[in-house]
Amino acid sequence: MKILVVGGAGYIGSHTVRQLIRAGHTPVVFDNLSSGHAEALPAEVPLVRGDLLDADAVRAALNAHQPDAVIHFAALIEVGESMRAPARYYRNNVVGSLNLLQAITETRKVPLVFSSTAAVYGTTDLVPIPENAAMQPESVYGETKLMTENMIHAFHTAHGLPYTVLRYFNVCGAAPEGDIGEAHAGKSHLIELAALTALGQREKMFIFGDDYPTPDGTCIRDYVHVQDLADAHVLAVEALLAGQRTEGTFNVGLGHGFSVKEVLDTVDDVIGTPLNRELAPRRAGDPPRLVADATRIREELGFKPQFTNLKDIVQTAWNWHKGHPHDFKQ
Ligand code: UDP
Repeated sequence: MKILVVGGAGYIGSHTVRQLIRAGHTPVVFDNLSSGHAEALPAEVPLVRGDLLDADAVRAALNAHQPDAVIHFAALIEVGESMRAPARYYRNNVVGSLNLLQAITETRKVPLVFSSTAAVYGTTDLVPIPENAAMQPESVYGETKLMTENMIHAFHTAHGLPYTVLRYFNVCGAAPEGDIGEAHAGKSHLIELAALTALGQREKMFIFGDDYPTPDGTCIRDYVHVQDLADAHVLAVEALLAGQRTEGTFNVGLGHGFSVKEVLDTVDDVIGTPLNRELAPRRAGDPPRLVADATRIREELGFKPQFTNLKDIVQTAWNWHKGHPHDFKQ
């Protein structure tokens, strides 16, 4: 089937393009390349360089390529930046998504898979977090994702748009081949920062708080490998195309978590030398535990993650960063 992958040149998008091809589909990418990379795409995949804020360009891409389904990744994703520049985030993420929804319903009315986030839940004491937990996003970023989820649901009700929303937990790792991986400007994620520290690009790792109510005192997160997440999109789009479902919202995670110390110990193990570590104050807004209740996606979409071992996950991230110390620039 032909799948339009909006934001397909980014980290998760490019891995999804690869898994779609492996599953026998034909992806076409629509991306403004603001943070994505054309180099992350196979040469045979058509790349339409366009912006969701240009409603005519979105409609033109749908008319030109006549996809059977759309997967929507395109968004600004930095929590801190979203608090400093809210207008940019609301415009890009909400207005951009609205343009896409309107274009889909006006032209092809094909199914949509949307890239959402556990940030829609905000700080919660629930462990693990089910999909029906209260949603109180604490950042503009999380709010733009929740607003888009609500818009999609309204388009489903009003126009019969079939959709699946995937709420990601902590996405990490890279393709086992080591040729694509995390490559965006705002580096803040634990595993990526540890890899860059190992490469000598940073002096040390800071542990943001070790007095949390967890077994070793550091925060616990549910780390889902990017290739497994990509497979979740393939499953979601195939279920929509088969008419097996017309709407649904799923957490995507392993269903269990690892602490910051466990992650850093694993990085030391993979790189074969201990990284410098320093204890730092807690980072504002970090809940002690964020772990997905992933029952629903396993039972309803047949999601079965391949990367469940932290060492394997970290190894793929390390292979990518070691081979591409400056992302795609070399
Ligand atoms: N973290 C840390 N040091 C770092 C980066 C992250 O201790 O240099 C911690 C962070 O406080 C959180 C966990 O690692 O508890 C995962 O953070 P990340 O930014 O990777 O993802 P988030 O959970 O914020 O989406």
